[in-house]
Formats: sequence, C-alpha cells, structure tokens
Amino acid sequence: MPVKPATKEEEYFARLELERKKKSAQEEAARLAEAEKQKLKDLHWMRCPKDGSELVETEFRGVKVDVCPTCGGMWLDAGELDALAQTESAGFLGGLSKFFKG
Ligand SMILES: [Zn+2]
Repeated sequence: MPVKPATKEEEYFARLELERKKKSAQEEAARLAEAEKQKLKDLHWMRCPKDGSELVETEFRGVKVDVCPTCGGMWLDAGELDALAQTESAGFLGGLSKFFKG
C-alpha cells in the first residue's frame, strides 16, 4: 500500500514525480509505435502486397513502375498514374486517373 505524503510539500513532489512517470510512459509508447512503424516499413518495402515477392523497378511507357515478377502486378507510386495518363490522356489510364481524382 502506498505511503500517504505527510506534508503539502511532499504531496507536491509526489504529484510531480507521478507526472514525470506518466510523461515518460507516454514517450516510451510513442517510441514503440514509431519502432513498430519502421519494422513494418522494413518488412514491406518494395514487396508485392499480394504475395510478398520483391518488386522489380521497370520502365513502362517512359515511367518507372514497380512490377511483381511472381503475379505480374504493377505498383504505382504517387504521381506515376498521372505521368502514365499523360502518355495516353484520352485512353483508359486517363479515365482511371480522373476516377481517382474525383
Ligand atoms: Zn505479386
């Protein structure tokens, strides 16, 4: 059972210590969340979201895209769909780009 602080001064320092421990616990939780995020990034970076194979960077219509050698899926980074759409603005990709932009 915790000892009850005897004086106002002790109570003040006990509260200060509690706040310090609370802040320290919050910082530790944030550090762990960041470490988990980094772990996931390391695990998934340049991996196919469907089968986990390592993606291969290749050029498609002048735009560098990431292709999965196992399932043939293609991964586009931000802006790459627009770049592809510009090579074929009236075609299918142009429509797809407009669809995602809303
Ligand atoms: Zn794949």
